[in-house]
Amino acid sequence: MSAATAEQTPTAEKTRLYGLCDYYDAESLLTEEERRVLGRLRSFLDREAQPLLAEYWERGEFPQQLAQPLIDLDLMEPGELTGAAGADGSLARGIYQGFRIFELARTDASLATWYTAQAGLFRTAIRVGASAEQQAEWMPKVTDFSLKGVFSLTEPDSGSDIAGGLSTTARREGDSWVLDGAKRWIGGAATADVLAVFARDVADGQVKAFLADRDADGVTLEKIHGKTALRMMQNAHITLDGVRVPESMRLHNVNSFRDVAAMLRAMRSDVAWIATGVQAGAFEAALRYVTERRQFGRPLGSFQLVQEKLARMLGNVTASLSLVVRLTEQQSRGFYRDQDSALAKMQTSLLMRETVALAREVAGGNGITLESDVARFHADAEAVYSYEGTHEINALIVGRALTGESAFTR
Ligand SMILES: Cc1cc2nc3c(=O)[nH]c(=O)nc-3n(C[C@H](O)[C@H](O)[C@H](O)COP(=O)(O)OP(=O)(O)OC[C@H]3O[C@@H](n4cnc5c(N)ncnc54)[C@H](O)[C@@H]3O)c2cc1C
Repeated sequence: MSAATAEQTPTAEKTRLYGLCDYYDAESLLTEEERRVLGRLRSFLDREAQPLLAEYWERGEFPQQLAQPLIDLDLMEPGELTGAAGADGSLARGIYQGFRIFELARTDASLATWYTAQAGLFRTAIRVGASAEQQAEWMPKVTDFSLKGVFSLTEPDSGSDIAGGLSTTARREGDSWVLDGAKRWIGGAATADVLAVFARDVADGQVKAFLADRDADGVTLEKIHGKTALRMMQNAHITLDGVRVPESMRLHNVNSFRDVAAMLRAMRSDVAWIATGVQAGAFEAALRYVTERRQFGRPLGSFQLVQEKLARMLGNVTASLSLVVRLTEQQSRGFYRDQDSALAKMQTSLLMRETVALAREVAGGNGITLESDVARFHADAEAVYSYEGTHEINALIVGRALTGESAFTR
């Protein structure tokens, strides 16, 4: 079925992938081929991933046995999706990519973050930052995961103010560069081949980007322990001490922080899809729970006060999904603005916090144990709320667009 036909045809009830958590049938925007790929992902997640989630969350480890099978599902540029290239040069349409993130996050926020570290963050760094020749060499390897990378921007002393505060330095020496500094929170670094490191060129003061070998001399990785959110996802503190990177491994199209901001625009939209998927997962888990659990001789779901909470959760999921679908449609036409993805990330994350709290609430005491999925969603939502720009920073981006006044102080 063509995309144009799919847009006009409601998805038949019995073949719908998303049922209640896609109340207004956004799924009808997908082609049959796209839905088939997503259905394949769904079966894998239900069969292979779901049984491992609680145990690995508690252990604070990523279930590595899922990594290669997930890669083998060929989700980034699936062979059967042969649509016209989208605005980002991808053959897979934006709406498919959004639902891929939604599906992963609906199962688990760490799985979605793990996949998006490669398919979103690192791929975006290469797509926006690499020259045409570099892209020709690297993009196929990024797509099939034979070149795994991570996005190393945040620093121990600079998170929200990274644009002005970035202090990792890059010094040119002949045909190579020497990097010194530290990076914090970098997701997936331990299993990456290269680290996309953003550093300030001491010669002109501008931010540039480099693919540093993860095993290069001078690179030290330390796992960040004791996280209370996204426990399965591994985040690293990275120290760079005189790390050498050849000029050929510099991303040639990154010449100032403006180029980094263009990457963040695309990545924030992905996180808005994650925040939406987390809500869908929490809502579905809560609905299951209140249907099964009985008090006062009746299912919890039969009480008026519980039904009001279910309706609010569904309203939040539906509002978020409508928002990200429309944003993605705009971006698929090549229309990108900082304030659009900032608004989507801010609002979906705000709604997510309420949705997961309501889900936890209707599950009572069991809502804080890993036996019910709502507890995992509830805890993990806090990391999604803060990464890729906090609530305040995204609000300030929107505020700047509305008033023409920048409230950032640096
Ligand atoms: C699980 C996780 C994974 C991550 N993965 C990566 C990754 O792969 N790569 C990467 O580069 N980074 C990553 N990050 C970093 C993330 O982007 C930062 O945590 C985020 O940008 C916020 O920075 P910060 O934590 O230093 O908070 P801070 O900047 O210290 O902010 C603390 C609080 O102060 C508020 N605040 C700051 N400035 C202002 C202001 N001007 N006005 C009002 N309020 C303000 C913030 O909104 C926030 O509430 C990750 C973070 C987490 C938690």
